[in-house]
Amino acid sequence: METEKDLLILERTGENEKLYLNAVTPPVFMNSLHVFDTFEEYHDVNVFEKDQFYYGRASNPTTSIAERKIAQLEHGARAVMFSSGMAAASAAILATCKTGSHIICMIDVYQPVKRFLNEYCIPCLNMQVSYVKGTDIQEIEASIQENTSLIILESPATFIFTVVDLEKVAQIAKKYKVKTYMDNTYCTPLFQKPLDFGIDIVMHTLTKYLGGHSDILGGVLVSKDEELMRKIMNQFREWLGGVIGPMEAWLAIRGMRTLKVRLEQHQKTAQAVAEFLESHPKVKKVYYPGLKSHPQYDLIQKQQKGSSGLLSLELCGSPETALEFVDALQLFRKGCSWGGFESLAMVPLYYASQEELDFLKIGRGLIRMHCGLEGTENLIADIQRALDLVKI
Ligand SMILES: *Cc1c(COP(=O)(O)O)cnc(C)c1O
Repeated sequence: METEKDLLILERTGENEKLYLNAVTPPVFMNSLHVFDTFEEYHDVNVFEKDQFYYGRASNPTTSIAERKIAQLEHGARAVMFSSGMAAASAAILATCKTGSHIICMIDVYQPVKRFLNEYCIPCLNMQVSYVKGTDIQEIEASIQENTSLIILESPATFIFTVVDLEKVAQIAKKYKVKTYMDNTYCTPLFQKPLDFGIDIVMHTLTKYLGGHSDILGGVLVSKDEELMRKIMNQFREWLGGVIGPMEAWLAIRGMRTLKVRLEQHQKTAQAVAEFLESHPKVKKVYYPGLKSHPQYDLIQKQQKGSSGLLSLELCGSPETALEFVDALQLFRKGCSWGGFESLAMVPLYYASQEELDFLKIGRGLIRMHCGLEGTENLIADIQRALDLVKI
């Protein structure tokens, strides 16, 4: 059983109690450097091939344990951890593109990635970016140019949970020798393994479900391509310096031990909340990959093992009704992250420009909710009460 294998990776891969006085959890290697008896010993250290250590920006033993777990979970050759999801994302872009490169990017990927492209890569590195829906394979193929270096994807993407046919996009990219990058944060490696569909680089922010407790920032890149990962580790993480701290890496290891039980609970609650919302007369539309009404339900069944705790909806009524509803919620606090124990709600595009809304083709009243671990019935009661209060 695939999931059983994943559980062993989460609990055991990379761990070696014998090395650490039989301590059941590994220590936090809170050191910036390793020292040697001779200069030759220091000089012979091989960080990538032999998993050895000499300086904290290059590698750390605690971080290395977490990296091995994530590499195995995603069926990759190597994983490299960063100080945040954005440090990982920007390193991946800079490692695969150069001045003058053309990038194909899905319209609804994580907003700061698009800002990095629009406000830095295009004006300062003379790159070109074509934005595509992600659901139309022909549109992706037609956008490929001679200088296309990278296709940036997120599936499901976290506004309205658009899903990309990973196998088809990967096939096209390989045909034109273009690299594919995908943000797999929503599903985690337990619910989706994009490298198995032929995607080249997977990114996760550890800040969301992998950490799971809203107490760390971190990111990771993983690939089956050893050469590419060597370049990312020995060059782009080293040079840009966005390495994860040992304490954060240790907290990620701890978070991952309970990933499966947490994720199943988030999923169970979100499914119940999505179905409740869908049946409510004041709700216009619910977006959740676990709903049969999702326009790509069959594709979701094919490439995902499940869905997590994030969903979105539109109410009947004006965008102001959305604010009224969100403020009336009590258990769902107002905040922008997700993937932790806590339930959150927000209206992420309420203050977006009309231009941005037209670009995304999403209304400003879209409500995003993260279903936390406070109990399905408690959360549904909170939503019911808030919906009763709003006047539509
Ligand atoms: C939060 C988030 C990121 C960025 O992660 P950080 O750790 O905050 O840099 C990237 N992608 C998605 C889908 C996210 O939700």
